[in-house]
Amino acid sequence: MSISAIDGLRARRPHLFQSPEFWRSRWEHVVRQAESVACGQAQEIGESASGRKIPAFFYGAFEPVSPTATISSAMASDRPGAFYAPSQRKTLSLALIGSIHGGETEGIACCLSLLRLLETGRDWRGQPRPALLDKMSRVRLSIVPCLNPDGRIAAGVDHLCGGELEDLFLVQQGLLADGTLFRGRKIKETQPIPPGMLQFMGGYYNAAGVNLQHDDFLGPEIAPENRAIQKMFRREIPDAFLTMHAHGARAAFLAPDGLLPPGYQRKQTGAVGFILGEMHRQGIPFLASEDITTPPWSFYFQVWLHFMTGATPLLFEFSHGLAMQPASLEQIMETGYCVFEAWLDYNLAFSPRPATPDLFGATTPAA
Ligand SMILES: [Zn+2]
Repeated sequence: MSISAIDGLRARRPHLFQSPEFWRSRWEHVVRQAESVACGQAQEIGESASGRKIPAFFYGAFEPVSPTATISSAMASDRPGAFYAPSQRKTLSLALIGSIHGGETEGIACCLSLLRLLETGRDWRGQPRPALLDKMSRVRLSIVPCLNPDGRIAAGVDHLCGGELEDLFLVQQGLLADGTLFRGRKIKETQPIPPGMLQFMGGYYNAAGVNLQHDDFLGPEIAPENRAIQKMFRREIPDAFLTMHAHGARAAFLAPDGLLPPGYQRKQTGAVGFILGEMHRQGIPFLASEDITTPPWSFYFQVWLHFMTGATPLLFEFSHGLAMQPASLEQIMETGYCVFEAWLDYNLAFSPRPATPDLFGATTPAA
């Protein structure tokens, strides 16, 4: 694999490799954060395909649950509590996954700023955010800033703010053997990436060419990064989780997930409406739900984690702030805070797990 592709980008667009102090999105920033945790707990949850240790961070009391049945059995008997009932815990358990695609550095920068806030009372922008801190103290919070260290290192850039669409394809997918950009339909038609297909493999993938969002989840072998998050989720059994991605367009939620039970889709839709309302109030541009063209019926990473735990997933796409959709790094960071805090508000005010698996909830028969 050549690194000259990223070196070339560095020469053409040096600003993509520079960032203000508050924008900490490099892999070494994640490692350093894990070494300096005092208030919470940092734990290695597993390794990447190339053997890099993946840290996760935990705040708030861990309340174990003891299922008497598998989630399959519990749901089949209409007794979800046999696997897990929210009443078994005093506080909600929420999980935040910052980045699983290495060129999408926004989620990492936001997670590390949140961790700085939790550890010192001020985030990397120097903000105290007392209301947010208070809300975070009321939940068990698990944070995985970067599940894909191999991809993060391959991507090279600090961010894509002010970049072009071609830069995004290079950083994320890479270059084909003939030196042209790997882009378009082929990206989703090839998974994992076979050895030799690319002269430069971008940050979308782990070192073995696996896109973690589209792993062979039900096959005999899954990627080691996904094995790590699986183990963590089975222990934590979160009530809800938020995965942070980024794309070239305006910010968006890819929801609902068409394979989830209808009650969960109702919850996803409710939470998204709640969060978008707050984004609108703060003047943050986003794609409305009718503008979302991503197929909802794939068995995605977040769907897999849902069926393992019953947690309600949400997938958020930051806007990279490319030249075609400009935004500053400050605006991108504040978008992350807005989304995270509104998601927290929704979960604290309304149970993240649906009361019933039906689309419309339990109806009251007429007298
Ligand atoms: Zn992504």
